[in-house]
Amino acid sequence: MTSIRIPTYRLAAFVVVVVIVSIASVGSLLIRNAVRSEEHRLLQERASEIGLILTEAFSGLQTQMATVAGETQLNGADARAFMASTATLITAQPGSSTVLADAGTDPVRFVAVIGTALPPTAVGPADALIRRALNLRAEITTSVFDEGSAHVIGLAYPVGVGGLVIYRQLPLDPSAAGSATSGSQPFHELTVALYAGPTQEKATLILTTSGQVPLRGSVAVASTTFGADQWLVAINATSPLVGNFATNAFWLVLVGGVVVALALGALADSLLRRREHTLALVDQRTAELRDSMAKLELAQEQVLRQARLAAIGELAAGVGHELRNPLGVITNAHYLLRAGFEQQGGNGLMRHLALAEREVGAATLIVGDLLDFAGPREPVTTPVGLHELLDEVLDLAAPPSGITVDRDESAGCSPVLADRDQLRQVLLNLITNAYEAMPGGGAVTVVVREAPGGVELQVTDSGVGMDQETAAQVFQPFFTRKARGIGLGLAVTKRIIDAHGGGISVTSAPGVGTTFRVDLPAAVVGAAP
Ligand code: ADP
Ligand code: MG
Repeated sequence: MTSIRIPTYRLAAFVVVVVIVSIASVGSLLIRNAVRSEEHRLLQERASEIGLILTEAFSGLQTQMATVAGETQLNGADARAFMASTATLITAQPGSSTVLADAGTDPVRFVAVIGTALPPTAVGPADALIRRALNLRAEITTSVFDEGSAHVIGLAYPVGVGGLVIYRQLPLDPSAAGSATSGSQPFHELTVALYAGPTQEKATLILTTSGQVPLRGSVAVASTTFGADQWLVAINATSPLVGNFATNAFWLVLVGGVVVALALGALADSLLRRREHTLALVDQRTAELRDSMAKLELAQEQVLRQARLAAIGELAAGVGHELRNPLGVITNAHYLLRAGFEQQGGNGLMRHLALAEREVGAATLIVGDLLDFAGPREPVTTPVGLHELLDEVLDLAAPPSGITVDRDESAGCSPVLADRDQLRQVLLNLITNAYEAMPGGGAVTVVVREAPGGVELQVTDSGVGMDQETAAQVFQPFFTRKARGIGLGLAVTKRIIDAHGGGISVTSAPGVGTTFRVDLPAAVVGAAP
Protein backbone atom coordinates (compact mmCIF):
# COMPACT_ATOMS: atom_id res chain seq x y z
CA MET A 1 0.00 0.00 0.00
CA THR A 2 1.40 3.41 -0.90
CA SER A 3 0.58 6.32 1.35
CA ILE A 4 0.47 9.83 -0.06
CA ARG A 5 2.30 12.29 2.15
CA ILE A 6 0.60 15.68 2.22
CA PRO A 7 3.15 18.41 2.94
CA THR A 8 2.66 20.29 6.21
CA TYR A 9 2.39 23.68 4.52
CA ARG A 10 -0.49 22.40 2.38
CA LEU A 11 -2.35 21.10 5.45
CA ALA A 12 -1.86 24.41 7.29
CA ALA A 13 -3.14 26.38 4.29
CA PHE A 14 -6.14 24.05 4.08
CA VAL A 15 -6.91 24.65 7.77
CA VAL A 16 -6.72 28.43 7.22
CA VAL A 17 -9.20 28.17 4.33
CA VAL A 18 -11.59 25.94 6.27
CA VAL A 19 -11.54 28.18 9.36
CA ILE A 20 -12.17 31.40 7.43
CA VAL A 21 -14.88 29.85 5.25
CA SER A 22 -16.60 28.52 8.39
CA ILE A 23 -16.48 31.92 10.06
CA ALA A 24 -17.82 33.56 6.88
CA SER A 25 -20.62 30.96 6.60
CA VAL A 26 -21.73 31.38 10.21
CA GLY A 27 -21.52 35.19 9.88
CA SER A 28 -23.50 35.23 6.65
CA LEU A 29 -26.20 32.96 8.14
CA LEU A 30 -26.53 35.25 11.16
CA ILE A 31 -26.78 38.25 8.86
CA ARG A 32 -29.38 36.52 6.67
CA ASN A 33 -31.55 35.68 9.70
CA ALA A 34 -31.25 39.21 11.08
CA VAL A 35 -32.14 40.70 7.69
CA ARG A 36 -35.12 38.34 7.31
CA SER A 37 -36.56 39.13 10.70
CA GLU A 38 -36.07 42.85 10.12
CA GLU A 39 -37.77 42.54 6.73
CA HIS A 40 -40.71 40.77 8.33
CA ARG A 41 -40.93 43.33 11.12
CA LEU A 42 -41.03 46.16 8.57
CA LEU A 43 -43.69 44.36 6.52
CA GLN A 44 -45.82 43.78 9.60
CA GLU A 45 -45.45 47.45 10.48
CA ARG A 46 -46.67 48.43 7.00
CA ALA A 47 -49.62 46.05 7.22
CA SER A 48 -50.68 47.61 10.53
CA GLU A 49 -50.31 51.10 9.02
CA ILE A 50 -52.51 50.16 6.08
CA GLY A 51 -55.02 48.60 8.49
CA LEU A 52 -55.21 51.92 10.40
CA ILE A 53 -55.63 53.94 7.22
CA LEU A 54 -58.43 51.65 6.10
CA THR A 55 -60.21 51.86 9.48
CA GLU A 56 -60.11 55.64 9.04
CA ALA A 57 -61.52 55.39 5.52
CA PHE A 58 -64.23 52.99 6.64
CA SER A 59 -65.33 55.23 9.47
CA GLY A 60 -65.90 58.00 6.85
CA LEU A 61 -68.08 55.64 4.84
CA GLN A 62 -69.92 54.54 7.96
CA THR A 63 -70.53 58.17 8.93
CA GLN A 64 -71.97 58.86 5.45
CA MET A 65 -74.40 55.95 5.75
CA ALA A 66 -75.32 56.93 9.31
CA THR A 67 -76.04 60.49 8.16
CA VAL A 68 -78.29 59.30 5.33
CA ALA A 69 -80.06 56.99 7.82
CA GLY A 70 -80.45 59.88 10.31
CA GLU A 71 -81.89 62.26 7.63
CA THR A 72 -84.32 59.56 6.47
CA GLN A 73 -85.48 59.00 10.03
CA LEU A 74 -85.96 62.75 10.54
CA ASN A 75 -87.95 62.98 7.33
CA GLY A 76 -90.31 60.28 8.54
CA ALA A 77 -88.92 57.72 6.19
CA ASP A 78 -90.22 59.61 3.24
CA ALA A 79 -88.94 58.20 -0.06
CA ARG A 80 -88.68 61.61 -1.72
CA ALA A 81 -86.78 63.14 1.16
CA PHE A 82 -84.42 60.05 1.20
CA MET A 83 -83.65 60.57 -2.46
CA ALA A 84 -82.92 64.24 -1.96
CA SER A 85 -80.60 63.77 0.98
CA THR A 86 -78.84 60.82 -0.62
CA ALA A 87 -78.13 62.83 -3.74
CA THR A 88 -76.35 65.48 -1.69
CA LEU A 89 -74.63 63.21 0.81
CA ILE A 90 -73.43 60.30 -1.33
CA THR A 91 -71.29 60.78 -4.40
CA ALA A 92 -72.68 58.65 -7.19
CA GLN A 93 -70.28 56.15 -8.74
CA PRO A 94 -70.87 54.47 -12.10
CA GLY A 95 -72.73 51.18 -11.65
CA SER A 96 -73.49 51.83 -8.00
CA SER A 97 -76.90 52.13 -6.40
CA THR A 98 -78.11 53.49 -3.06
CA VAL A 99 -81.42 52.06 -1.92
CA LEU A 100 -84.00 52.56 0.81
CA ALA A 101 -85.11 49.02 1.54
CA ASP A 102 -88.05 47.75 3.56
CA ALA A 103 -87.17 44.56 5.34
CA GLY A 104 -90.65 44.25 6.78
CA THR A 105 -91.76 42.47 3.60
CA ASP A 106 -90.63 39.15 2.23
CA PRO A 107 -88.70 39.36 0.03
CA VAL A 108 -87.21 42.75 0.96
CA ARG A 109 -88.79 45.45 -1.15
CA PHE A 110 -86.77 48.39 -2.49
CA VAL A 111 -88.76 51.55 -1.66
CA ALA A 112 -86.51 54.01 -3.52
CA VAL A 113 -83.34 53.62 -5.64
CA ILE A 114 -80.73 56.25 -6.54
CA GLY A 115 -78.10 55.49 -9.18
CA THR A 116 -78.20 52.41 -11.35
CA ALA A 117 -81.63 50.84 -11.44
CA LEU A 118 -82.21 47.62 -9.50
CA PRO A 119 -85.10 45.11 -9.55
CA PRO A 120 -87.96 45.99 -7.16
CA THR A 121 -87.04 43.36 -4.60
CA ALA A 122 -83.75 42.09 -3.13
CA VAL A 123 -82.74 38.50 -3.75
CA GLY A 124 -80.34 36.01 -2.17
CA PRO A 125 -77.31 37.54 -0.50
CA ALA A 126 -78.61 41.14 -0.71
CA ASP A 127 -81.80 40.07 1.04
CA ALA A 128 -79.84 38.26 3.74
CA LEU A 129 -77.50 41.25 4.22
CA ILE A 130 -80.35 43.70 4.66
CA ARG A 131 -82.09 41.46 7.18
CA ARG A 132 -78.84 41.06 9.13
CA ALA A 133 -78.41 44.86 9.20
CA LEU A 134 -81.88 45.20 10.65
CA ASN A 135 -80.94 42.96 13.55
CA LEU A 136 -77.74 44.89 14.32
CA ARG A 137 -78.63 48.35 15.42
CA ALA A 138 -76.60 51.27 14.06
CA GLU A 139 -73.81 49.20 12.55
CA ILE A 140 -72.78 48.89 8.95
CA THR A 141 -72.79 45.35 7.57
CA THR A 142 -71.05 44.12 4.45
CA SER A 143 -71.23 41.26 1.99
CA VAL A 144 -69.49 40.41 -1.29
CA PHE A 145 -71.44 38.40 -3.81
CA ASP A 146 -72.31 37.94 -7.49
CA GLU A 147 -75.35 39.79 -8.72
CA GLY A 148 -76.27 38.49 -12.17
CA SER A 149 -73.06 38.87 -14.20
CA ALA A 150 -71.54 41.45 -11.85
CA HIS A 151 -69.37 40.99 -8.79
CA VAL A 152 -70.58 43.41 -6.13
CA ILE A 153 -70.16 44.51 -2.54
CA GLY A 154 -73.20 45.39 -0.53
CA LEU A 155 -73.25 47.73 2.47
CA ALA A 156 -76.29 47.94 4.73
CA TYR A 157 -77.20 50.30 7.61
CA PRO A 158 -80.44 50.20 9.65
CA VAL A 159 -82.46 53.43 9.62
CA GLY A 160 -83.99 52.79 13.03
CA VAL A 161 -87.59 53.20 11.86
CA GLY A 162 -89.72 50.12 11.16
CA GLY A 163 -87.95 47.62 8.94
CA LEU A 164 -86.13 50.26 6.91
CA VAL A 165 -82.50 49.81 5.91
CA ILE A 166 -80.15 51.95 3.78
CA TYR A 167 -78.51 49.61 1.27
CA ARG A 168 -75.62 50.46 -1.07
CA GLN A 169 -74.42 48.19 -3.83
CA LEU A 170 -71.09 48.85 -5.63
CA PRO A 171 -69.68 46.94 -8.55
CA LEU A 172 -66.44 45.22 -7.66
CA ASP A 173 -63.35 44.78 -9.82
CA PRO A 174 -60.62 43.94 -7.33
CA SER A 175 -57.71 44.63 -9.69
CA ALA A 176 -59.07 47.99 -10.87
CA ALA A 177 -57.66 49.65 -7.74
CA GLY A 178 -54.13 48.54 -8.65
CA SER A 179 -52.95 51.98 -9.65
CA ALA A 180 -53.68 53.22 -6.15
CA THR A 181 -50.43 51.75 -4.78
CA SER A 182 -48.24 52.12 -7.86
CA GLY A 183 -45.70 54.70 -8.92
CA SER A 184 -44.64 57.17 -6.28
CA GLN A 185 -47.52 56.35 -3.90
CA PRO A 186 -46.59 55.80 -0.25
CA PHE A 187 -47.01 52.05 -0.52
CA HIS A 188 -45.72 51.56 -4.06
CA GLU A 189 -43.22 48.89 -2.98
CA LEU A 190 -46.06 46.72 -1.65
CA THR A 191 -48.54 44.33 -3.15
CA VAL A 192 -51.85 44.64 -1.30
CA ALA A 193 -54.97 42.48 -1.14
CA LEU A 194 -58.06 43.58 0.82
CA TYR A 195 -60.69 41.07 1.86
CA ALA A 196 -64.18 41.85 3.19
CA GLY A 197 -63.81 39.07 5.70
CA PRO A 198 -61.45 37.75 8.39
CA THR A 199 -59.51 35.36 6.06
CA GLN A 200 -57.85 35.51 2.66
CA GLU A 201 -60.75 34.03 0.71
CA LYS A 202 -60.99 34.78 -2.96
CA ALA A 203 -64.78 35.27 -2.79
CA THR A 204 -64.41 38.16 -0.35
CA LEU A 205 -61.54 39.87 -2.24
CA ILE A 206 -62.32 43.55 -2.65
CA LEU A 207 -59.17 44.88 -4.22
CA THR A 208 -55.68 43.76 -5.07
CA THR A 209 -52.65 45.20 -6.77
CA SER A 210 -51.49 41.80 -7.88
CA GLY A 211 -52.90 39.27 -10.36
CA GLN A 212 -51.83 36.54 -7.93
CA VAL A 213 -54.08 36.00 -4.91
CA PRO A 214 -53.61 34.82 -2.31
CA LEU A 215 -50.23 36.57 -2.08
CA ARG A 216 -47.17 34.39 -2.05
CA GLY A 217 -43.83 34.53 -0.23
CA SER A 218 -43.39 36.58 2.90
CA VAL A 219 -46.86 37.95 3.64
CA ALA A 220 -47.97 40.17 6.54
CA VAL A 221 -51.63 40.57 7.46
CA ALA A 222 -53.59 43.05 9.58
CA SER A 223 -57.28 42.93 10.38
CA THR A 224 -59.39 45.98 10.50
CA THR A 225 -62.91 46.53 11.83
CA PHE A 226 -65.57 47.75 9.48
CA GLY A 227 -68.87 48.12 11.21
CA ALA A 228 -70.00 44.73 12.40
CA ASP A 229 -67.39 42.95 10.24
CA GLN A 230 -63.70 42.15 10.38
CA TRP A 231 -61.82 42.86 7.13
CA LEU A 232 -58.36 41.67 6.35
CA VAL A 233 -55.49 43.33 4.58
CA ALA A 234 -52.61 41.18 3.31
CA ILE A 235 -49.38 42.58 1.90
CA ASN A 236 -46.04 41.48 0.58
CA ALA A 237 -43.12 43.50 -0.77
CA THR A 238 -42.16 43.71 -4.43
CA SER A 239 -38.63 44.72 -3.43
CA PRO A 240 -36.96 44.22 -0.04
CA LEU A 241 -38.02 46.85 2.49
CA VAL A 242 -34.65 46.67 4.21
CA GLY A 243 -33.00 47.52 0.88
CA ASN A 244 -31.13 45.46 -1.66
CA PHE A 245 -27.79 45.92 0.03
CA ALA A 246 -28.99 44.44 3.32
CA THR A 247 -30.66 41.56 1.48
CA ASN A 248 -27.50 40.79 -0.45
CA ALA A 249 -25.20 41.26 2.55
CA PHE A 250 -25.54 37.50 3.12
CA TRP A 251 -24.00 36.74 -0.28
CA LEU A 252 -21.49 39.54 0.05
CA VAL A 253 -20.18 38.17 3.33
CA LEU A 254 -20.18 34.57 2.10
CA VAL A 255 -18.51 35.23 -1.25
CA GLY A 256 -16.17 37.79 0.31
CA GLY A 257 -15.27 35.27 3.02
CA VAL A 258 -14.53 32.55 0.49
CA VAL A 259 -12.42 34.91 -1.62
CA VAL A 260 -10.47 36.12 1.42
CA ALA A 261 -10.07 32.51 2.62
CA LEU A 262 -8.69 31.39 -0.73
CA ALA A 263 -6.35 34.38 -0.91
CA LEU A 264 -5.07 33.83 2.64
CA GLY A 265 -4.85 30.08 2.03
CA ALA A 266 -2.73 30.67 -1.06
CA LEU A 267 -0.59 33.18 0.84
CA ALA A 268 -0.13 30.78 3.76
CA ASP A 269 0.66 27.98 1.35
CA SER A 270 3.35 29.97 -0.42
CA LEU A 271 4.84 31.45 2.78
CA LEU A 272 4.95 28.09 4.57
CA ARG A 273 6.30 26.36 1.50
CA ARG A 274 9.03 28.98 1.21
CA ARG A 275 9.83 28.52 4.89
CA GLU A 276 10.05 24.76 4.51
CA HIS A 277 12.23 25.17 1.46
CA THR A 278 14.47 27.62 3.30
CA LEU A 279 14.76 25.29 6.29
CA ALA A 280 15.65 22.40 4.02
CA LEU A 281 18.23 24.59 2.33
CA VAL A 282 19.68 25.62 5.69
CA ASP A 283 19.89 21.96 6.72
CA GLN A 284 21.57 21.05 3.49
CA ARG A 285 24.04 23.94 3.70
CA THR A 286 24.77 23.12 7.35
CA ALA A 287 25.46 19.49 6.45
CA GLU A 288 27.72 20.60 3.61
CA LEU A 289 29.52 23.00 5.91
CA ARG A 290 30.03 20.30 8.53
CA ASP A 291 31.31 17.97 5.86
CA SER A 292 33.71 20.60 4.56
CA MET A 293 34.91 21.35 8.08
CA ALA A 294 35.47 17.68 8.78
CA LYS A 295 37.44 17.37 5.54
CA LEU A 296 39.39 20.50 6.36
CA GLU A 297 40.24 19.15 9.81
CA LEU A 298 41.37 15.88 8.28
CA ALA A 299 43.45 17.70 5.69
CA GLN A 300 44.95 19.90 8.39
CA GLU A 301 45.78 16.84 10.45
CA GLN A 302 47.38 15.24 7.44
CA VAL A 303 49.39 18.34 6.66
CA LEU A 304 50.60 18.50 10.27
CA ARG A 305 51.45 14.82 10.21
CA GLN A 306 53.27 15.16 6.92
CA ALA A 307 55.20 18.12 8.24
CA ARG A 308 56.08 16.25 11.43
CA LEU A 309 57.08 13.14 9.52
CA ALA A 310 59.19 15.21 7.13
CA ALA A 311 60.99 16.88 10.03
CA ILE A 312 61.55 13.56 11.80
CA GLY A 313 62.59 12.01 8.49
CA GLU A 314 65.30 14.63 8.06
CA LEU A 315 66.50 14.11 11.61
CA ALA A 316 66.43 10.33 11.18
CA ALA A 317 68.45 10.55 7.99
CA GLY A 318 71.06 12.70 9.74
CA VAL A 319 71.32 10.52 12.83
CA GLY A 320 71.32 7.31 10.76
CA HIS A 321 74.22 8.54 8.59
CA GLU A 322 76.24 9.70 11.52
CA LEU A 323 75.81 6.39 13.40
CA ARG A 324 76.31 3.97 10.54
CA ASN A 325 80.08 4.52 10.20
CA PRO A 326 80.98 4.28 13.91
CA LEU A 327 78.79 1.14 14.18
CA GLY A 328 80.69 -0.40 11.26
CA VAL A 329 84.02 0.39 12.89
CA ILE A 330 82.84 -1.07 16.24
CA THR A 331 81.64 -4.24 14.50
CA ASN A 332 85.02 -4.73 12.80
CA ALA A 333 86.84 -4.06 16.08
CA HIS A 334 84.65 -6.71 17.75
CA TYR A 335 85.52 -9.21 15.07
CA LEU A 336 89.25 -8.65 15.65
CA LEU A 337 88.86 -8.70 19.43
CA ARG A 338 86.91 -11.99 19.26
CA ALA A 339 89.65 -13.56 17.05
CA GLY A 340 92.37 -12.38 19.50
CA PHE A 341 90.46 -13.66 22.58
CA GLU A 342 89.84 -17.06 21.01
CA GLN A 343 93.57 -17.49 20.27
CA GLN A 344 94.53 -16.53 23.82
CA GLY A 345 91.68 -18.52 25.39
CA GLY A 346 90.21 -15.54 27.24
CA ASN A 347 86.88 -17.25 27.71
CA GLY A 348 85.75 -15.14 30.67
CA LEU A 349 85.71 -12.01 28.57
CA MET A 350 83.76 -13.66 25.72
CA ARG A 351 80.46 -13.14 27.58
CA HIS A 352 80.97 -9.40 27.69
CA LEU A 353 81.92 -9.40 24.08
CA ALA A 354 78.70 -11.27 23.12
CA LEU A 355 76.63 -8.72 25.04
CA ALA A 356 78.37 -5.84 23.28
CA GLU A 357 77.81 -7.54 19.92
CA ARG A 358 74.08 -7.95 20.60
CA GLU A 359 73.70 -4.32 21.56
CA VAL A 360 75.57 -3.28 18.45
CA GLY A 361 73.19 -5.50 16.44
CA ALA A 362 70.18 -3.75 17.99
CA ALA A 363 71.71 -0.36 17.25
CA THR A 364 72.36 -1.42 13.65
CA LEU A 365 68.74 -2.47 13.26
CA ILE A 366 67.56 0.90 14.54
CA VAL A 367 69.88 2.75 12.21
CA GLY A 368 68.62 0.59 9.33
CA ASP A 369 65.01 1.40 10.17
CA LEU A 370 65.80 5.09 10.49
CA LEU A 371 67.50 5.20 7.12
CA ASP A 372 64.81 3.12 5.42
CA PHE A 373 62.12 5.33 6.87
CA ALA A 374 63.85 8.60 6.00
CA GLY A 375 64.87 7.68 2.50
CA PRO A 376 62.87 4.75 1.15
CA ARG A 377 64.28 3.37 -2.07
CA GLU A 378 62.97 1.06 -4.78
CA PRO A 379 63.92 -2.57 -4.11
CA VAL A 380 66.82 -3.81 -6.20
CA THR A 381 65.63 -7.40 -6.68
CA THR A 382 67.60 -10.58 -7.05
CA PRO A 383 66.45 -14.14 -6.31
CA VAL A 384 66.96 -14.64 -2.58
CA GLY A 385 66.92 -17.96 -0.75
CA LEU A 386 65.00 -17.49 2.45
CA HIS A 387 66.77 -20.30 4.36
CA GLU A 388 70.19 -18.72 3.96
CA LEU A 389 68.82 -15.28 4.77
CA LEU A 390 67.25 -16.68 7.93
CA ASP A 391 70.60 -18.23 8.94
CA GLU A 392 72.24 -14.88 8.52
CA VAL A 393 69.59 -13.03 10.51
CA LEU A 394 69.70 -15.47 13.40
CA ASP A 395 73.49 -15.06 13.42
CA LEU A 396 73.13 -11.31 13.64
CA ALA A 397 70.31 -11.45 16.23
CA ALA A 398 70.94 -14.56 18.27
CA PRO A 399 68.10 -15.50 20.69
CA PRO A 400 68.66 -14.16 24.22
CA SER A 401 68.95 -16.73 26.99
CA GLY A 402 65.60 -18.43 27.83
CA ILE A 403 64.33 -18.11 24.28
CA THR A 404 64.43 -20.90 21.72
CA VAL A 405 63.97 -20.55 17.97
CA ASP A 406 62.28 -23.39 16.09
CA ARG A 407 62.58 -23.37 12.33
CA ASP A 408 60.02 -25.27 10.28
CA GLU A 409 61.39 -25.33 6.78
CA SER A 410 60.66 -29.00 6.04
CA ALA A 411 58.42 -28.11 3.07
CA GLY A 412 61.26 -26.16 1.48
CA CYS A 413 60.70 -23.31 -0.94
CA SER A 414 61.99 -21.72 -4.10
CA PRO A 415 63.85 -18.42 -3.99
CA VAL A 416 61.90 -15.18 -3.95
CA LEU A 417 62.64 -12.18 -6.12
CA ALA A 418 63.58 -9.55 -3.57
CA ASP A 419 65.98 -6.87 -2.37
CA ARG A 420 68.24 -8.88 -0.10
CA ASP A 421 69.16 -6.06 2.30
CA GLN A 422 65.56 -4.96 2.66
CA LEU A 423 64.29 -8.49 3.23
CA ARG A 424 66.96 -8.99 5.91
CA GLN A 425 65.70 -5.80 7.61
CA VAL A 426 62.17 -7.29 7.56
CA LEU A 427 63.27 -10.55 9.18
CA LEU A 428 65.37 -8.71 11.75
CA ASN A 429 62.43 -6.56 12.74
CA LEU A 430 60.00 -9.46 13.09
CA ILE A 431 62.41 -11.62 15.05
CA THR A 432 63.66 -8.91 17.44
CA ASN A 433 60.02 -7.90 18.08
CA ALA A 434 59.28 -11.53 18.95
CA TYR A 435 62.26 -11.63 21.38
CA GLU A 436 61.13 -8.38 22.99
CA ALA A 437 57.58 -9.73 23.45
CA MET A 438 58.94 -12.54 25.67
CA PRO A 439 60.85 -10.90 28.55
CA GLY A 440 60.41 -14.06 30.63
CA GLY A 441 61.56 -16.41 27.87
CA GLY A 442 59.58 -18.54 25.43
CA ALA A 443 59.69 -19.93 21.93
CA VAL A 444 59.82 -18.35 18.49
CA THR A 445 58.63 -20.45 15.58
CA VAL A 446 59.62 -19.47 12.06
CA VAL A 447 57.79 -21.18 9.22
CA VAL A 448 58.87 -20.78 5.59
CA ARG A 449 56.86 -22.58 2.91
CA GLU A 450 55.49 -22.35 -0.60
CA ALA A 451 52.03 -20.84 -0.95
CA PRO A 452 49.84 -20.42 -4.04
CA GLY A 453 51.63 -17.83 -6.22
CA GLY A 454 54.56 -17.28 -3.89
CA VAL A 455 56.20 -17.92 -0.56
CA GLU A 456 54.70 -17.60 2.91
CA LEU A 457 56.74 -16.67 5.97
CA GLN A 458 55.34 -16.83 9.52
CA VAL A 459 57.01 -15.61 12.71
CA THR A 460 55.11 -16.75 15.82
CA ASP A 461 56.00 -16.05 19.44
CA SER A 462 54.54 -17.17 22.75
CA GLY A 463 54.84 -13.68 24.21
CA VAL A 464 52.59 -11.03 25.73
CA GLY A 465 50.41 -10.60 22.63
CA MET A 466 48.28 -7.54 21.90
CA ASP A 467 44.68 -6.47 22.06
CA GLN A 468 42.70 -5.63 18.90
CA GLU A 469 43.23 -1.89 19.21
CA THR A 470 47.02 -2.22 19.45
CA ALA A 471 47.17 -4.75 16.61
CA ALA A 472 45.31 -2.30 14.38
CA GLN A 473 48.00 0.36 14.87
CA VAL A 474 51.27 -1.52 14.79
CA PHE A 475 52.08 -0.61 11.16
CA GLN A 476 51.78 3.15 11.81
CA PRO A 477 55.07 5.06 11.96
CA PHE A 478 56.14 5.95 15.53
CA PHE A 479 53.57 3.70 17.13
CA THR A 480 55.28 1.98 20.06
CA ARG A 481 54.36 0.53 23.40
CA LYS A 482 57.95 0.04 24.49
CA ALA A 483 59.88 2.29 26.86
CA ARG A 484 62.89 2.36 24.56
CA GLY A 485 61.09 1.74 21.25
CA ILE A 486 60.91 4.20 18.39
CA GLY A 487 58.01 2.57 16.57
CA LEU A 488 59.50 2.46 13.09
CA GLY A 489 60.24 -1.26 12.71
CA LEU A 490 56.85 -2.50 11.51
CA ALA A 491 56.15 0.68 9.49
CA VAL A 492 59.35 0.13 7.54
CA THR A 493 58.63 -3.60 7.30
CA LYS A 494 55.21 -3.00 5.76
CA ARG A 495 56.59 -0.46 3.32
CA ILE A 496 59.22 -2.90 2.13
CA ILE A 497 56.75 -5.76 1.72
CA ASP A 498 54.35 -3.46 -0.17
CA ALA A 499 57.18 -2.35 -2.47
CA HIS A 500 57.77 -6.02 -3.26
CA GLY A 501 54.12 -6.55 -4.21
CA GLY A 502 53.53 -8.72 -1.14
CA GLY A 503 51.36 -8.48 1.97
CA ILE A 504 51.76 -8.59 5.75
CA SER A 505 49.18 -9.31 8.45
CA VAL A 506 49.12 -9.88 12.20
CA THR A 507 47.01 -12.12 14.46
CA SER A 508 47.46 -11.84 18.19
CA ALA A 509 45.81 -12.59 21.52
CA PRO A 510 46.87 -10.94 24.80
CA GLY A 511 48.86 -13.38 27.00
CA VAL A 512 48.93 -16.07 24.27
CA GLY A 513 51.22 -14.79 21.56
CA THR A 514 51.47 -13.20 18.17
CA THR A 515 51.89 -14.34 14.59
CA PHE A 516 53.12 -12.11 11.76
CA ARG A 517 52.48 -13.54 8.32
CA VAL A 518 54.33 -12.27 5.23
CA ASP A 519 53.39 -13.27 1.66
CA LEU A 520 55.91 -12.69 -1.11
CA PRO A 521 55.55 -13.34 -4.82
CA ALA A 522 57.83 -16.19 -6.00
CA ALA A 523 60.96 -15.55 -8.02
CA VAL A 524 60.91 -16.06 -11.80
CA VAL A 525 61.57 -19.77 -12.34
CA GLY A 526 65.07 -20.53 -13.43
CA ALA A 527 66.49 -17.15 -12.39
CA ALA A 528 70.17 -17.49 -11.43
CA PRO A 529 70.94 -17.00 -7.72
P1 ADP B 1 59.12 -0.80 18.42
O1 ADP B 1 59.60 -2.19 18.42
O2 ADP B 1 60.16 0.22 18.36
O3 ADP B 1 58.13 -0.53 19.51
P2 ADP B 1 57.69 -1.69 16.10
O4 ADP B 1 57.14 -0.97 14.92
O5 ADP B 1 58.64 -2.77 15.84
O6 ADP B 1 58.30 -0.58 17.06
O7 ADP B 1 56.56 -2.29 16.95
C1 ADP B 1 55.48 -1.48 17.28
C2 ADP B 1 54.71 -2.02 18.47
O8 ADP B 1 54.02 -3.20 18.07
C3 ADP B 1 55.50 -2.46 19.62
O9 ADP B 1 55.83 -1.41 20.51
C4 ADP B 1 54.63 -3.50 20.30
O10 ADP B 1 53.74 -2.87 21.16
C5 ADP B 1 53.87 -4.09 19.14
N1 ADP B 1 54.46 -5.38 18.73
C6 ADP B 1 55.20 -5.59 17.65
N2 ADP B 1 55.52 -6.91 17.56
C7 ADP B 1 54.95 -7.53 18.63
C8 ADP B 1 54.91 -8.88 19.12
N3 ADP B 1 55.57 -9.88 18.49
N4 ADP B 1 54.22 -9.16 20.25
C9 ADP B 1 53.55 -8.14 20.88
N5 ADP B 1 53.55 -6.86 20.48
C10 ADP B 1 54.24 -6.53 19.37
MG1 MG C 1 60.62 -3.21 16.84
